[in-house]
Order: sequence, then C-alpha cells, then structure tokens
Amino acid sequence: MPNNIVLTFDYELFMGKDSGTLESSIINPTNLILSVLKQYNASAIFFVDTAYLAKIAVDYPSEFINISKNIFSLYEQGHSVQLHIHPQWIDAVRKKDRWQFNNYSNYRIHQSGEDEIRKMFSDGVNRLEGIISKYSGKAYRVEAFRAGGWSLQPFNKIKKSFLSNHIKYDFSVLPGFYKNNLPKHFIDYRRMKNYQSSWCFTTDPAVIEVQGEFFEIPATTFKSNLYLRALKKKYSSDKEVMGDGVGVGGEGKLKKLWYKLTNPYDFASLDYIQPEYLIRMLDRIKSNSELQFYTFVAHPKVLTPNSMESLKYLLEHYNTLSFSDIKSLVNQK
Ligand SMILES: [Zn+2]
Repeated sequence: MPNNIVLTFDYELFMGKDSGTLESSIINPTNLILSVLKQYNASAIFFVDTAYLAKIAVDYPSEFINISKNIFSLYEQGHSVQLHIHPQWIDAVRKKDRWQFNNYSNYRIHQSGEDEIRKMFSDGVNRLEGIISKYSGKAYRVEAFRAGGWSLQPFNKIKKSFLSNHIKYDFSVLPGFYKNNLPKHFIDYRRMKNYQSSWCFTTDPAVIEVQGEFFEIPATTFKSNLYLRALKKKYSSDKEVMGDGVGVGGEGKLKKLWYKLTNPYDFASLDYIQPEYLIRMLDRIKSNSELQFYTFVAHPKVLTPNSMESLKYLLEHYNTLSFSDIKSLVNQK
C-alpha cells in the first residue's frame, strides 16, 4: 500500500464573475499553506496560472512584483513551480481592484490557433523561469504543465507547444472523467478507468503508449457513490473560504444533476473538505491497488479552516514526493 502522495496546488484567481484579489485569493492562503508544508517538511508542486501573470505584467507592475516575490518564495521553500494556463484571461476586464469574465469564448485553450497557443506556453514558461532566476540568481527550468479546466484534448493542437517549451510532464488528466459543456470544457478521459499513477503518451494523454514522448501524472480519481456523495456534502463547506472571488459555476441544477448521474467519478482534492471525508476518500482511493502514489489537487483560493485540517491530516499520515522524486520514479518504470 503506497504511503506516498503528490500534493499539487493550482495557484490562480477565480475565473467567474469576480476574480477576487491577489492578496486575499492567492498570496495570503498560499502563505498559510507554505507554513504548514514547512512544519511537516513536505514538498508540493504549484501550477501557476501564467495567463494572469501576462495580464498584470505591464499594466499593474506593483501587483506583478508582489506575485513574483510570492512565486519565488514557493521555490525558495523547496517547492516546484510549474505551468498552468487559463486562457480566458484574454477576455478579462478590470473593475477597480478586481477582474470580471463576461464570456467564456476563450475558456478552452483550443479556441486559440496553434501559434497563439505556442506563444502562451513560451510566454508562461519564460515568465516563471525569469521570475525565479531573477530572485535566486540560478537557472530554473519549467518542465510540467496542467491545463486550465483540465482541457488538454485534442492533444495534437498542444503537442508542438510541449515540444518547443521542454514540457515533458503533464498533470491534466482526471481518469474516468467525461465532460462536455462547450465552450467551457471538453474532456474525455473515460478510457482510463483502471489506471496507474503515471504512464507515457504521445498522441492523447488518455492513451498509454509505452515508448511515449511525454509522461502523464494524472490526478487520483475514484468512483464515487451515493453514500460517499452524502458524506462529502455533510463534511464539506464553503464557509470561511479565504479567497474573495466567485468561481465559474453557473450550470443549472438539472445540468449539475445530469453531470453527477453520468459521471460517477470524483478526484482526490482537499478543497472544502473536513478530515472526516478525507479519511473515507482515502479508503476508496486505496481500493485501486495499481497506484504507486496518490496525486491530490487543491486550490489556495478556496482554502478554509477545514481544508487546512485535512492538509495537516494528510501530512501527518503520508510522505510527500517532490517533483524530482516523481521524475525519477516515472523515468524508472
Ligand atoms: Zn486552474
């Protein structure tokens, strides 16, 4: 039974009607998470939304400096900083100290042309590497990616961006998941029902190719059921969320119900939950004996006192793998 976990955080603002502010939705919750990680000597991977960085770099220099320093502190404390892109920043409109997203035409990266996508990748990679080497005085290399909204398919439109930006490790797959609510999401990871902690691929991240050019490290998913869903409802709450924005959401009740009925899968996350549910989730996850380690996803913006307790529970009971641990593990296979 594995005792290793990979902790990943999507470092980003809210993508709905109100972005929230950099201070309350990113920097403050991230600093709290960093203090807990330090306490347990744990390492994590932070996927930084570089489309947001691009939006503030020129017009909001003091915000850009603040976030750059915070990103550097992730690196300085031994964590890995990797690439995440939410292309809908293209359409964001500034209202006082916040941003609004009024349309979702650019929600999926696939709405852009291949050259534009490559530019978003190289811009993001250069920014992250630039920030870290500026403050540390050492070269830094981005090597991993998680797609905004998990949307990586069809991969043929993204592949050149991986290759030309030395991205070898992808973290965008939710095994078993299917979602089609275009223009927002399109993902079809249903092929991966009995899956491993990592695999190689070349043409589609949800198709294993033994000699594949890239590594997939999916979020750990599990088949939920009515009982687990009821527990999740009981043991999670969005009260006292640290971030001050509004997420995408916006689907009607019927659509949500339909989605739940047709998608029995859920993924390992710390968002909103209390340790009581985390423990049941872990029991469920452990029923997949193929897994070498469990990959968790969390978001600083929705940090709550409960999810903080869940994080502590996880760190008390599991060993975290650093990004270089993961690289050597998956390369050995
Ligand atoms: Zn994201």
